[in-house]
Amino acid sequence: MRVSFLGLGAIGTPMAARLAERYQLTVWNRTTARSRDFAAEHPARVAATPREAAAGAEVVITCLPTSADVEHLLDGPDGLEGGLERGALFLDCTSGDAATSRRIAARLTPRGVAFADAPVSGGTNGAAAGILTVMVGGDEAVFRRAVPVLQAFGKRIVHMGPLGTGDAMKAVNNTLLGVNILALAEGLTGLVKAGVNPRLAVETLNASSGRSFVSETLIPERVLPGTWPVTFRLALLDKDVGICLGQLRELGIPAPLLERAGELLHQARVALGEAADYLEPIRLQERRTGVEIRG
Ligand code: NDP
Repeated sequence: MRVSFLGLGAIGTPMAARLAERYQLTVWNRTTARSRDFAAEHPARVAATPREAAAGAEVVITCLPTSADVEHLLDGPDGLEGGLERGALFLDCTSGDAATSRRIAARLTPRGVAFADAPVSGGTNGAAAGILTVMVGGDEAVFRRAVPVLQAFGKRIVHMGPLGTGDAMKAVNNTLLGVNILALAEGLTGLVKAGVNPRLAVETLNASSGRSFVSETLIPERVLPGTWPVTFRLALLDKDVGICLGQLRELGIPAPLLERAGELLHQARVALGEAADYLEPIRLQERRTGVEIRG
């Protein structure tokens, strides 16, 4: 099967690498050097434009920062829309927003192209291991077509409901992730300042009811040893929280805690810059308090 992948970023690259093992893969990236590097390492053809990537593809997958970026990719003489063929399946793995996903679908459906939002969770390591969770929004028939392809990098592939529900699910998930990061930064710096050994604090938490993915995996792997790799930009997490808060406001759901978390994450993004990793708000708290969570 001919599959095209557009967006060889931090998570897109390992996802595309898994597709290259199974399918006849074409890749496109805005910065061409990245797609050339990819094709030097994996069996893949490099497309010069989004249009060229889409031409002849049975399945097209995008993974860009925002839905707006994906929508813009459709436009113009070299755009994706011009290359997409009738009968093609278009899966957007961007952590996007429901309104834009619905607009993209409305534009492509009359052209005979099936579309679903299919954001992923599980990080860059999860993508490389093929164990991502994929949250799909779209028609049941489109979901069924998508599953075998998504299995290249996904383990749990969930049909959330109609178009946009994958985006909605992902935005709430990441907002809860952000809340956990901020809460652990405050709680753990407090415990260390109170004289508790940081590793012991984390181990005890992880054997108790306050534990989370952040405390069980991210803090032991990155914060305690002080490695701070950049795998998921804080700017993207801030974008996800913005999508979630927009959804909640639109639905009339009061969310004072999540709104405050959104403000704090946005402030951290401004303080740390666009390249910072999503765990770095913990570092900011360490700097503010003069306490390090190491051990
Ligand atoms: P990166 O910032 O690492 O990469 C972004 C990719 O999108 C690059 O290939 C970049 O191209 C391309 N790009 C950026 N802007 C545009 C544009 N306007 N037009 C075309 N291409 C563009 O992001 P990630 O790979 O980390 O994230 C991609 C998506 O996946 C985001 O929605 C993110 O929220 C989500 N995600 C990320 C996870 C992670 O662990 N990193 C986990 C789960 C979801 P170029 O090389 O030219 O800069």
